[in-house]
Amino acid sequence: MDPQLILAIIYALSGLAHAVLAWWAFNRRTQAGAAARSLVAGALLNVVANGLLAANSAGWLPGLSAGLHVHLALYAAVAYTGLLFVITHAVTRRPGPQAAWFWLLGAGLLLLALVDSDLLTRDVIVVIQPGYALIRAGFVLVGLTALWAAVAGRSVYLTLRTYRRTPQPLHRNRLAFWSLAWALAVVAVALLVVGLTVGGQALLAGASAVATLTVLRPRLPDARRAVFQSLVTGLVLALTAGAYVGLFLWLLGLEPNRLGLAPVAAAVLVAAVLVLTINPLLRVSERWLRQLVAGRRYDPRQLIGEYGLSISNILETDRLARVALELMRDAIGLKRGAFFVVDQLEITAGAQHAYLNRVGSLVEDGPTAGTLLEDSPLAHFWRTEFEPLTQYEIDVDPRFAAQSTAERVWLGQLGMDVYVPIYANREWIGLLALGPKLSRHRYFDEDLELLSTLADQTAVALRNARLVEDLRHLNADLKTANSALDDASRRLAQLDRTKSDFINVVSHELRTPLAILYGYAQILTEEIGKAGQAEHVQIVEGIATGAKRLNEVIENMLDMARIDSRALQLHAQPVYLEHVVQKLVWQFQWALADRQLRLASAGLEGLPPIQGDPDALYKAMHHLVVNAVKYTPNGGTITITGRHAPEALVGGALEVIVSDTGIGIDPRFLELIFDKFYQTGEAAQHSSGKTKFKGGGPGLGLAIARGIVEAHGGRVHAESTRHDEQMLPGSRFIVVLPISKDYSRRLTEN
Ligand code: ADP
Repeated sequence: MDPQLILAIIYALSGLAHAVLAWWAFNRRTQAGAAARSLVAGALLNVVANGLLAANSAGWLPGLSAGLHVHLALYAAVAYTGLLFVITHAVTRRPGPQAAWFWLLGAGLLLLALVDSDLLTRDVIVVIQPGYALIRAGFVLVGLTALWAAVAGRSVYLTLRTYRRTPQPLHRNRLAFWSLAWALAVVAVALLVVGLTVGGQALLAGASAVATLTVLRPRLPDARRAVFQSLVTGLVLALTAGAYVGLFLWLLGLEPNRLGLAPVAAAVLVAAVLVLTINPLLRVSERWLRQLVAGRRYDPRQLIGEYGLSISNILETDRLARVALELMRDAIGLKRGAFFVVDQLEITAGAQHAYLNRVGSLVEDGPTAGTLLEDSPLAHFWRTEFEPLTQYEIDVDPRFAAQSTAERVWLGQLGMDVYVPIYANREWIGLLALGPKLSRHRYFDEDLELLSTLADQTAVALRNARLVEDLRHLNADLKTANSALDDASRRLAQLDRTKSDFINVVSHELRTPLAILYGYAQILTEEIGKAGQAEHVQIVEGIATGAKRLNEVIENMLDMARIDSRALQLHAQPVYLEHVVQKLVWQFQWALADRQLRLASAGLEGLPPIQGDPDALYKAMHHLVVNAVKYTPNGGTITITGRHAPEALVGGALEVIVSDTGIGIDPRFLELIFDKFYQTGEAAQHSSGKTKFKGGGPGLGLAIARGIVEAHGGRVHAESTRHDEQMLPGSRFIVVLPISKDYSRRLTEN
């Protein structure tokens, strides 16, 4: 075949390779941004250059001289270098190159093109003819190389400097790839300069391929490891081939037919031996390689087993975090590491924030908590993707471009290399953040796989620990609540006691002087009566009545204090309600006559007796009748009825109803009136007489009545339709008292 045609085919293939790269970069332009656009431009440039070179080699461009052919390739390479220079800034994460660089490159290329194309120098040439063409060609060559060297030198410098400074192993790896692209490009241009255009173009295509790979793939294979791997594989292959050839030759060199082997049989034999040994050999070298490159110190299976055993029984999150981190540190060799528990909280409807709370850490510094907001791409990733992430990916992957500055700063303060999420039932509950390795190596895919497995193992333990902790908190809360309650009830009891004590003391202290006052007032009444000074008699009687009324009030207060402090002494005996009522009628006859009221009773005769304290029961009924008298206007009727009411209480009961034709009670207050010191209406409007219409009282009567009835195992309530001083709807007080036999025991116990 015509060698020119072969050249043309090589250029065409190289152009095709660039076209494929251009297409790939074009497809990824949204993810990789400006760098991808530069890649597309560079690849298209190379497509055009290679197309021209191919066409020229095939003889389709008769106008293109051999010199121009070489120069064309160089122009393209220099322009391409300019684009690589731009991309270098993206890869080293520096701001784009300054405009001066573009001017230098553009102006230089233009000038050289002008000189090269004869346009500038056509008239001058004549004088210095034949040597001129040579000088001109040399000038262009040197100029192009110098331009190229300036741009390439700057790029290589940037790349190497960033490589030395960056702490992130993954970024270093990427820069290693980038350096490889540059190395290929440098050699390619060197070949172009010395006129080896084909080799130069082929290498340039290789450089372009490596550059595109570096820019477009966030997860690159480990450069060091790739180099070692190929070295080791080459070594093993060379050893194997050497052994094969050596053994084979040795077998052949033995005295003919000594082993009785034909050469073919010998070859098969040697091959068989090698086939059997090559696999173990490769495996051993692979392990050796791993240890050398990855600095790996652990056996994954053993580690997983040990890890599971160590954490399975831990029920406190902080201890779990510490043990987990320490195991990982010992296995992988870590500088830093932190363990976060994650709470998904819905603050506003529909917006879920992730709260990260550090429960363990290998070093003391770094933030102890953080929040990933609802719209955080990181939180979104971990809620939906269930995968570990490296800090490097977070930095370069366009999916995380929308991350807020606050989150970036937070991650920066953490200073970690990888983040491994922990899930329970597909719910994100924890995060392992692990820092750089002591060996300064990157985290390899198998490291991430192992860490994910460990995270899965941690999930169950973490969930259990959190459940137990929640329970503990709940328990502690309950305890505090309980003791607060205890405190409060103790204080209430104390208060109640103080109040009862107060009433007790005051009542006794008042009762004694009152009795003296009352006694003297009576003596005085008699004495003055004898002496016949009528107006003085009235005065002294007033004193006596006042003292008597005061005494009753004190009696009531005492009764109330006894009921409150459960110190009411009841002496049980059979009591006939009929007798109680008779006594009341007799007691109230003057008051009734005075107020022109009628007191009728019915149904009480023949009722069985109840077990009770006759004095206490009398007091209770007395309060009800006093009220009926007080709240019924002159001319009204009070009725006391009794009946056997077996349905009212278990064991049977008697029912006594005191009803009147008085002013009635607002149904809203029917229960309230039984409270201590409760009075409806204005106390100041009450008239002072005990049995006067609407006569006042301290508001204790009904409370005492209820206290006594309840102490007997009974109950009392009021009924009325409304309060109306004109229409007088009347009120009914219904008392139910048990007649069962066993309540007598309860009474004496009290
Ligand atoms: P007081 O010492 O004020 O009479 P009570 O405890 O005996 O205290 O009664 C509380 C309130 O219940 C009274 O102030 C009165 O308003 C109302 N009340 C009690 N009995 C009757 C009744 N038979 N008719 C209308 N109101 C009544």
